Amino acid sequence: MTVRLARFFAALGCVTIALAVPLPVAAEGGIVPGAVNRASLAVEARYEVRLALSMATYRLSAAETIEIVNRSGSPIDRLDLNTVLARLGGLQITAASVDGQPVTPSISDQTIRLPLGGVLPDGAGATIRLSFRARFGTRLDGSRWLFTAAGGTFAAYRWLPWISAARPFDRPNHGDPFVTASSPSVRLTVTCDRVTRISTNLRRTSVSADRKTQVFEGSNVRDLNLVADTRFSVASRWVGDTQVHVFARTAAARSLLLGQAARSLARLEALLGPYPWPTLSVAQTAGGFGVESPGAIWIPRGVSGGNLSWLVAHEIAHQWFYGLTGNDQARQPFADEAPGDFLARYVTGSFRASRCATARLDRSIYAYSAGCYFEIVYVQGGRLLLDVRKRVGSTAFFRALRSYLDAHRFGLGSTRELIASLDEADPRDLARLWEPRFPSLLP
Ligand SMILES: [Zn+2]
Repeated sequence: MTVRLARFFAALGCVTIALAVPLPVAAEGGIVPGAVNRASLAVEARYEVRLALSMATYRLSAAETIEIVNRSGSPIDRLDLNTVLARLGGLQITAASVDGQPVTPSISDQTIRLPLGGVLPDGAGATIRLSFRARFGTRLDGSRWLFTAAGGTFAAYRWLPWISAARPFDRPNHGDPFVTASSPSVRLTVTCDRVTRISTNLRRTSVSADRKTQVFEGSNVRDLNLVADTRFSVASRWVGDTQVHVFARTAAARSLLLGQAARSLARLEALLGPYPWPTLSVAQTAGGFGVESPGAIWIPRGVSGGNLSWLVAHEIAHQWFYGLTGNDQARQPFADEAPGDFLARYVTGSFRASRCATARLDRSIYAYSAGCYFEIVYVQGGRLLLDVRKRVGSTAFFRALRSYLDAHRFGLGSTRELIASLDEADPRDLARLWEPRFPSLLP
């Protein structure tokens, strides 16, 4: 993402709190004739979504409106929208239009390529409407846990078509094949055929009288996910000015997760600065992996003991390293997974040696084996950060992490910029010292 857009989103963060500056409004009708064969992540996008969820038939249908303003500095003529439904949910697009004119999107891998029907100049706006439907699977293997109704827990990760850079979905490990832009405004209305509790990464703002329609709103989030289960109950606790909600089936699970989430959140806020959203939702899923979303985490049932405390802390650490400051998770997993692992082990006291041979840390998720992706990028990456912390001390080390986070607030950082922040704090020349681990990034 351009520095300009990062600053723009940073400014929006202040606006959200202060409401002192008028919000930019999408200027509809900005499309002009022509073609440039260009999409961009640097598009300001406000999402308004109506979702119908049928737990009886395992189907969803949705109508999505995206108000966009091109902030990329150059014209675009296409949006690249990411949705896992294209790979896991038998996605069917039923209607698509730009400023009321029908357009014909195509689907490539997990990316919807939506032509704008002309060129959108820099600074101009348009209104996109997209309707679609999909069907939940019931399996958890491979990547299927990302969109599944296994065991009666409906879990949908990155289901909403969202401005992204196109990345291949298939990879040899559990890496996150995504890079998406933060949105200043998301509003989701869910109507369900049953009364059910729904965990999302947004804040619930209203519930209908029959309790089947719920409205959720949020800002400065870079994805949207939900977990719905008619057997969920909710336990809540305030941590500072953040309300933590745990959605789980049993009182024991709610109590355990609430305690661990509250502890991790308080520790991490003390180290990294204020948590950026009003709520943190913790949902217990049927299986698969733990995963993060800005304002929410998923923790699979069956994780216990030290693994659970590490996992909860790791996914909450991603609220800063991914949620607040994003990165290309597919091409530079070090930038969010190494800090995520370091922080989780730091607050839970669980550092350990890697079980794979020392290896490069600058590769994409597509280049690591299933057996060693975690051991290299997470464990070895986390130990590299531990080495800096030991060398420079906690004060300088966490100041360097906060400086990286602040510089890319609601924008995108990178492995190179993270290392540059640490290098400023470390008397050694980290770029030179770490060159063998990051040969493609460092001199
Ligand atoms: Zn992670």
